[in-house]
Amino acid sequence: MTLTKRWNLLNTLFLTGTLALALVLVPWRLATSGLRWSEALVFLAMTTAVGTAISGGYHRLFSHRAYKASWPVRFLFLCFGAAAFENSALKWASDHRVHHRHVDTEEDPYQIGKGFWYAHWTWVMEAKGLPIAGVADLEKDPLVRWQHRNHFLIGAVVASLPLVIGLATGNVLGHLVFGVALRIVMTHHTTFFINSAAHMFGSRPYTDANTARDNWILAPLTYGEGYHNFHHLWQWDYRNGALWYQWDPTKWLLNVLRWFGLVGGFRRVSAAAMTQARLRMEEKRLRERLALASPGSAHPMRDRLEAARKKLEAALTALHDRHVAWQARKAEWRAKGSAKAEAWREAKAERRAALAAHRRELKAAWAEWKAARLEVRSALVYA
Ligand SMILES: [Zn+2]
Ligand SMILES: [Zn+2]
Repeated sequence: MTLTKRWNLLNTLFLTGTLALALVLVPWRLATSGLRWSEALVFLAMTTAVGTAISGGYHRLFSHRAYKASWPVRFLFLCFGAAAFENSALKWASDHRVHHRHVDTEEDPYQIGKGFWYAHWTWVMEAKGLPIAGVADLEKDPLVRWQHRNHFLIGAVVASLPLVIGLATGNVLGHLVFGVALRIVMTHHTTFFINSAAHMFGSRPYTDANTARDNWILAPLTYGEGYHNFHHLWQWDYRNGALWYQWDPTKWLLNVLRWFGLVGGFRRVSAAAMTQARLRMEEKRLRERLALASPGSAHPMRDRLEAARKKLEAALTALHDRHVAWQARKAEWRAKGSAKAEAWREAKAERRAALAAHRRELKAAWAEWKAARLEVRSALVYA
């Protein structure tokens, strides 16, 4: 196989060339001139803007349609996303949808089974790229089509913004090294980590049907994209770090934009469904441990586990149903207008009391589950 048949020369030279340039220029600049404030700030601002455009735009909006965005938001995400030099949003989304549809199989364009570096960046350097397909919905958007035709030019203009600051401060070279070269390398590899590291290192709290992992160390580097196990199960959810304490600045930014009416139509999985998935995974692992115990001790523990799980699932379902019923009731009241304020207050008080009862029930069921879980775990330790 000839060199050009195996490799996409443009991609290969660009990825390795920018990395080599940064590896030489950054230490040289640090040794000769140190790091200036404006260089550090411009680097951070550009990394954040481009990374957020990939996470919030290319990924959650265009690839997964997890929410709806007004044209100014789409425009900005498309402009800054182009400066990642990871192809157009259309091509990126097309590849990414194939990744989700065929994860871990031969059709997965960045299959982790072919090794860390393959999933990280070798796949980008290979000549056998996939055709653009399965993105007819995106092709309807004139902004997406415009960016697809001009993404190199748009990317070059946006990526050069630090040079404007360089000209203004009389330090073009410093801003070229940190704001352009290092920033491009940083953007590339933080995105690539999701396809490599987030399919190899971390936990699988929601599903083990694929290799995707939740990795909290990756989350700050990737604007919240590190919770990849959650993401592969509910790819249409606008969040990646769904729990309130999980680092997901893209989710927070989208909530701020929603407040200004710039985005909306957020899709999200219910907390009850998340807990149920987690519970199923925990139960599966506990059963695997029980399979190693002697039948005499395993049997009662299995019964106890089963009973605790049923109780917990019933409590979760009740809470979920209550939530759905409340949403329906709220919509009905909204349709009726705000005239019956007194009755509305009563309904709210009633809901509060019912919710408190559900939470008590859930808490008790959790306690039983935890006790059963502890029994399984400790029994095997001392068996
Ligand atoms: Zn993935
Ligand atoms: Zn995805």
